[in-house]
Amino acid sequence: MSAQDIITKVEVWPVDVPITDPFTVATGRLVAAQNLFVRVTLKDGSRGYGEIAPFPEVGGEDRDTCRQIAAQLAKAALGQPASQYRKIARLFHDMAVSHPASRCGLETALLDALCRHNGVTLWSFWGGADVRERESDITIPIADLERTVALAREWYGRGFRLFKTKVGADVEQDIRRLEAVHRALPDVAFIADANQGFTRADCLAFVNGVKRVGGRLVLLEQPVVREDLDGLAALRHLTGVPVVADESVRSILDVRNVLERQAADYINIKIMKSGLLDAMDIAAYARAYGLRLMIGGMVETRIAMGCSFGLALGLGGFDVLDLDTPLLLAADPVKGGYRYEGPRLLPWTGPGLAVEAHVADAVTTIE
Ligand SMILES: [Mg+2]
Repeated sequence: MSAQDIITKVEVWPVDVPITDPFTVATGRLVAAQNLFVRVTLKDGSRGYGEIAPFPEVGGEDRDTCRQIAAQLAKAALGQPASQYRKIARLFHDMAVSHPASRCGLETALLDALCRHNGVTLWSFWGGADVRERESDITIPIADLERTVALAREWYGRGFRLFKTKVGADVEQDIRRLEAVHRALPDVAFIADANQGFTRADCLAFVNGVKRVGGRLVLLEQPVVREDLDGLAALRHLTGVPVVADESVRSILDVRNVLERQAADYINIKIMKSGLLDAMDIAAYARAYGLRLMIGGMVETRIAMGCSFGLALGLGGFDVLDLDTPLLLAADPVKGGYRYEGPRLLPWTGPGLAVEAHVADAVTTIE
């Protein structure tokens, strides 16, 4: 054990980035990413970054509570060797089970610092199972017909062909939006993400409507409320479209329930939903039992999203990448790391996440 990897300092600060088009989904509307960045420093000076994108659906997380919880977790981590990150993550889990985003930010920064200490990329640390350029979908938020088509054309021009269309607020309007995009751009495929907004009947009407107009619907994401696993199972069979469980899954127990009820074909893994280490365990469990994997996020910058891309490169087994939110932001507060080329994410080569970010004046320092 090297004492050089002891955690000596943790900094947490707020980061605000406007979203170019309001991020409207069935459950709400966001006009800016209001996240927190975390930086962990080890005794040898190695520094790693993490990000907290509050996940309000669990424990009502908002930025203030996330910041308080992060400071508590940071105090508990001080003096511990980063190489024992699983032990530290277990401690975080016990201290803050209902604050997954705060745990995620600390865990990411800790692993980034450890990888920089060891001089390896985060994805090679995780095994380098599937290192290649990957294509992401692009999200089209809920908007009027005209704006929906304009956005779709713009992304199409930049090379995107898989459109994750947010639906679930108004079935007829949802069908019209997909129809309009399909007519304008006939070779695109759609993921429809209802964020729990449909009833079973709504969802059937929606899928039938999209099929009638000829739209190519490849995945149906969380059509109904998270508890309605039988609804998800019924919709898989009735529509013939593969179903992705997102809000329904934030723990291994949730995956087991999905398996028992045959409620989904895919699980959407998000590090903010469960914390980073728990997300890795959930992914391994789901995959072992034959579920397919998608990886997505909250509205995040390239720090959290780089970590998720690192999971795809390192662990492998992720079929669908929904890692587009940095492209929806009006600015990029992160230097280095992976890059986008149109819809493609290009792996990075430097140690850890290989990112740098400016520390704000409003920083909280724990040392
Ligand atoms: Mg979703």
